[in-house]
Amino acid sequence: MLPVLARHTARSLYATSRWGLASLSSVPESAHAHGTAPPTTKLLINGDFVDSQTSQWVDVVCPATQDVVSKLPLTTPDEFNAAVAAAKAAFPGWRDTPVSTRARVMLKFQHLIRENWDELAKLVTQEQGKTFLDARGDVFRGLEVVEAAAGIAPLMMGETVENVASGIDCYSYRQPLGVCAGICPFNFPAMVPLWLFPMAVTAGNTFVLKPSERDPGASMALADLAQQAGLPKGVLNVVHGTHDVVNAILDHPDIKAVSFVGSDAAGRHVYSRAAASGKRVQSNMGAKNHAVVLPDADVDATVKAIAGAAFGAAGQRCMAISAVVFVGGFERWKEPLLEAARSLKVDGGMEPGADVGPMISKEAKARAESIIGKSVEQGAQLLLDGRGVKVPKYPRGNFVGPTLLGGVRPGMACYDEEIFGPVLVCLEAPDLDSAIALVNSNEHGNGTAIFTHSGAAARKFQHEIGVGMVGINVPIPVPLPFFSFTGWRGSFAGDLHMYGRAGVQFYTQPKTVTAKWSMPAKAPRGGRIPGLDQVGA
Ligand code: NAD
Repeated sequence: MLPVLARHTARSLYATSRWGLASLSSVPESAHAHGTAPPTTKLLINGDFVDSQTSQWVDVVCPATQDVVSKLPLTTPDEFNAAVAAAKAAFPGWRDTPVSTRARVMLKFQHLIRENWDELAKLVTQEQGKTFLDARGDVFRGLEVVEAAAGIAPLMMGETVENVASGIDCYSYRQPLGVCAGICPFNFPAMVPLWLFPMAVTAGNTFVLKPSERDPGASMALADLAQQAGLPKGVLNVVHGTHDVVNAILDHPDIKAVSFVGSDAAGRHVYSRAAASGKRVQSNMGAKNHAVVLPDADVDATVKAIAGAAFGAAGQRCMAISAVVFVGGFERWKEPLLEAARSLKVDGGMEPGADVGPMISKEAKARAESIIGKSVEQGAQLLLDGRGVKVPKYPRGNFVGPTLLGGVRPGMACYDEEIFGPVLVCLEAPDLDSAIALVNSNEHGNGTAIFTHSGAAARKFQHEIGVGMVGINVPIPVPLPFFSFTGWRGSFAGDLHMYGRAGVQFYTQPKTVTAKWSMPAKAPRGGRIPGLDQVGA
């Protein structure tokens, strides 16, 4: 266990944490529960965790209790500029650090994450609300990217062609860009930051990270661990805030590339504004992920997979299944699916047996409930209503229980909008072609899954579907980090996807050298070649 995360009790951590971390010992323990003032989250600038001088603060709220876990500063322009300046100043030295040395920092970092896995997961549960099991998965999926970053060198190799003209060779290699920035959503507070800065810095860049203002704790703990692993001062900096600091990132001339993960509206804004100021951008956005169920699919395995993918993490996953298309009719699937949904336990994330935690905020809960109501008015059948679910131990939590809507069609609010809650909408299609056409006409193209025993049907689906990540009897097909996270259409803007080979290409640029070296026509007196004697030849 690492000292900074392990040696303190929850209470002493308030006073001693370097980044303003809240309690690690349990959920929903918080400063509120102790009658003390909530801690303030710090900034990380040039290797130091510092207090912000801002007068504007945002409450980080536990979604299960409404307790204020910590206060988050809206970084001032001077502080933001200092973070970028630190990253810029650190770049030349870090770029020239051997790639194997940079990779070794990631080897140490992944070890420290493993040692502190549970503590990081508790932070995630406390601030984001998801169950402890899901939170451990959140950390693990990010950890896998750190492991991949430790093996970055082969992905940075260039190309060589000898003798492109007489005695002339041509070769390329990949160089880092400079200062890069990452803007994160609330729903994966550990995984998404780890998608971004480990690849970027191991490729030789320096970084400014902007965590979600709703759950910054995991980012702060990870930044501390990365520094303990050996990241030099200024290589990773962390700023906090909302729109203003994001816009500052998009406009700053010293930031060369921006990675964004979040909603459609913000992602489109980030893409166009950052591109307009000449930056590279990769923008992962919203989703409506369809499962297509063929009549030959195994009933038990399929409903279990779909219920977990739809309602797990309270539906707040960009790869959650939020729509299911039953080919040949819904009727025989209805009862098993209802049974699977009803069996899930709605509770605080640290409670034993909890399957579905609270949604992130009161506003998110109210929005989900309003979309359910509107869709029923539009003709959807309310097969299971999660509104008003009671969780006795957490009466103030933002809970919505698993909700199942039948008879859904495009044009209904529950289909047209990304609800980002534990709501599954059920549609029907007469055949596979119609199901594929339906999925392809949706604006989003993040993930999809088909459930069938037919290899031929699965092959047709994977070939014709206009979605970037496809599962075959796998409900949430998030690619491991030696591939990339390949959302399509409305779910992604940019050219190079996150992590994997594409991620390394995003954070590096090729330089191509054309070289001609001729031996002197005649060796000078003594047979020595000028210059070579100075290098000991
Ligand atoms: P969000 O767009 O509200 O916030 C994301 C980030 O953008 C935050 O850091 C926030 O401070 C900033 N931001 C928000 N609005 C902004 C604006 N108008 N101008 C400038 N900055 C702004 O997203 P969220 O609610 O935190 O996350 C949920 C969304 O993220 C869902 O739509 C989900 O599908 C999506 N998501 C996508 C992926 C993916 O890989 N495609 C992964 C995770 C989450």
